[in-house]
Amino acid sequence: MAETIYDVAILGGGPAGYTAAIRAGQYGLKVALIEKSEKLGGTCLHVGCIPTKSLLFNAEVYDYLKHAKEYGIDGLGEGRVNWKAVLERKNQIVAKHAKGLEFLMRKNKVTVVQGFGKLTGPAKNGVVEVGVADGKGATIVQAKNIVLATGSDAKLLPGLTADDCILTNTEILSLEQVPKSLSIIGAGAVGVEFGSIFRSFGSEISIIEFLPRIVPNEDEDISKELVRTFKKRGIDINLGAKVEKVAKTRSGVKVTFIASDGKKMEKEAEKVLVAVGRAPRTEGIGFEMTKIKPERGFIKVDEWMRTEEPGIYAIGDIVAGMPQLAHTGAMAGMVVAAKIAGKYARPIRRERVPACTYTEPQIGSVGLTEALAKERGYTVKVGKFPFSANSKASIVNSHEGFVKVVADAKYGEVLGVHIIGPQATELIAQAVTALELEATVEEMMFTIHAHPTLSEAMLDGFGSVEGMAINV
Ligand SMILES: Cc1cc2nc3c(=O)[nH]c(=O)nc-3n(C[C@H](O)[C@H](O)[C@H](O)COP(=O)(O)OP(=O)(O)OC[C@H]3O[C@@H](n4cnc5c(N)ncnc54)[C@H](O)[C@@H]3O)c2cc1C
Repeated sequence: MAETIYDVAILGGGPAGYTAAIRAGQYGLKVALIEKSEKLGGTCLHVGCIPTKSLLFNAEVYDYLKHAKEYGIDGLGEGRVNWKAVLERKNQIVAKHAKGLEFLMRKNKVTVVQGFGKLTGPAKNGVVEVGVADGKGATIVQAKNIVLATGSDAKLLPGLTADDCILTNTEILSLEQVPKSLSIIGAGAVGVEFGSIFRSFGSEISIIEFLPRIVPNEDEDISKELVRTFKKRGIDINLGAKVEKVAKTRSGVKVTFIASDGKKMEKEAEKVLVAVGRAPRTEGIGFEMTKIKPERGFIKVDEWMRTEEPGIYAIGDIVAGMPQLAHTGAMAGMVVAAKIAGKYARPIRRERVPACTYTEPQIGSVGLTEALAKERGYTVKVGKFPFSANSKASIVNSHEGFVKVVADAKYGEVLGVHIIGPQATELIAQAVTALELEATVEEMMFTIHAHPTLSEAMLDGFGSVEGMAINV
C-alpha cells in the first residue's frame, strides 16, 4: 500500500470524514479513508443522529395512537410499546445506511483502510504518513494531504463509568426495556431529546441542569417555551442544579444535587443518562510529532480547516469553536475537499449553521439570538408568530410554539430565526437560505409560501417583525 501516494487520506469515517472522502472522489482525487471501526458512519450513524431520530419517530407514532379517538379512529386504545421491535427497526435503519456508505465509497473510488490511524510526523517532501494498526498488523498510508476527522466521545462526570445503569448516548440506545424512570444530567440537545423520546414511551423523566436554562445555546424565549411544554408533558425540570453525587442503589441510581435555592435534593430513578457534552477524540493521533497544539483536545483551524501543520486539515467534532453537529462536519468536509482539489469553496460561517433539537416540540434555529444581536451592537427588531394561529398547525394538531425573527432595525437584514413547534427542524432550512443570501425582512415578506403549510408561519414570522403578520 505504501507505494501509492494518495492525494488525500482521511482519518475517521464519520459524517465529516466520509463526506470529505466522497466529495474528494467526485473531484477525481485519489482518496484513502481510514476508519478504526468495522463500519463507516461514526457517532452520527451508529449512536447519534440516526438511531435517536428513529426512536423519536416511533415515539411520535405512539403519541398519535394514544389520541387515535381524537382523529376519529376507534378501537385502538393506548396500545403497548414492543420495545424489541422498536430497537430492531432502529438497527435495520442503521445497517441499511452503513451498507449505503460502503456503496458510496466504491462508487467514488475511495480506498477504505480499516484500522487505527496515527500521524508519524510532519510532511516530508510534500508527503504525510499515517501508520494504521488493525490489531493484526500495521501498514503505512502516504498522502499529499491528511484530513483529521476522528470525532468525539460522550463526557462522563468525574468518577463515573458507563454501565447498564449509568448511561451515555451509547448504552441508552440498546436498553433491554423502557425504564420506568430516567434522570438526565444535562439539558443540551442530547439530554432533552432523550427526555422527550422516553417521556413519550412512558418513562418518568427528571432533568437536572447546571445552567439556569435548558437548551442554553438557544434564544431565551425558546428555552422558556420548551420548559413550559415539557412541564405540561409531566417532565420534571431542575435548573441551576449542581450535581454532587451519583450513586447506585438497590433499585437504580440516586443523583444528589444542590438545587438553585441552595437546598440539597435527591432524585432516584431506574437509570441515569449523563449528557454533559462531548470530548474530542484526539488522543493518540500523534500530534506531538507535528506543530498542532490541541486546546483541551480540540484542534484549531483557519477558515479553510487548515491546522498549524502544513498539509494537515481538521474537520468535524474535533474542531475548536465549531458546533459539534453532523452537518457542520459534513460541510467542512466538502470545503476541505474543494480546497485540496483547487475548486471553488466558501468558508463555513458559524452563525449560518442551523441547530436542530428533535424534541416534542422541535426546535430549529439559525443566526443570532436576540441577546447576542444586541450584544454585537445591533438595534434589533423582533417579530414572533405563534403556531396556534397557523391553519396547518391546527390540521396536524400541533399548536405549541412560535417563529421568532430577529432583524437589524436599520437595514432590515434577517439576523436570526428561532423556531419551536411542529417540523421546526425542517422549516429552519428556509431561514438558513435567507441568511446565506443576506435577505431582508421585506424580501421574505414578499416570498410566496404555499397554503396551507407550516411554512406560512415563517411568512407571518417575518411579517410580525413589522407588526404585519396576517393571521394574528
Ligand atoms: C445522541 C446524539 C444525537 C445526535 N444527533 C444529532 C443530530 O440530530 N444532528 C446532528 O447534526 N448532529 C447530531 N449529533 C452530533 C453528531 O453525531 C456529531 O456531530 C457527528 O457524528 C460528528 O461527526 P465526525 O465525523 O466529526 O465524528 P464521528 O461521527 O464521531 O466519527 C469519527 C470516526 O472516526 C473514527 N476514528 C476515531 N479515531 C480514529 C483513528 N485514530 N483512526 C481511525 N479512525 C478513527 C471513529 O471510529 C468514528 O467512526 C448527535 C450526537 C449524539 C451523541
